[in-house]
Amino acid sequence: MTSPPGDSDHGSGSAREPEPLVCARCGARAEAPQPTWACSVENGTRYYFCDRCSRESLTAIEGRLDSAWW
Ligand SMILES: [Zn+2]
Repeated sequence: MTSPPGDSDHGSGSAREPEPLVCARCGARAEAPQPTWACSVENGTRYYFCDRCSRESLTAIEGRLDSAWW
């Protein structure tokens, strides 16, 4: 039995790279996953929003809903 040297099959997978989070609104970056960030998926693309922008967008959405609803 001969196995190929190295773990190239395991090591160079395409799915294990930690991507830095980039806020889709203000462009703020976070190198580690932030539990306070919001993630929304639109058309199969993920968008991240920092805690500040997610708050602001929430407020904006609430304001819009309020005026649009009535
Ligand atoms: Zn932001």
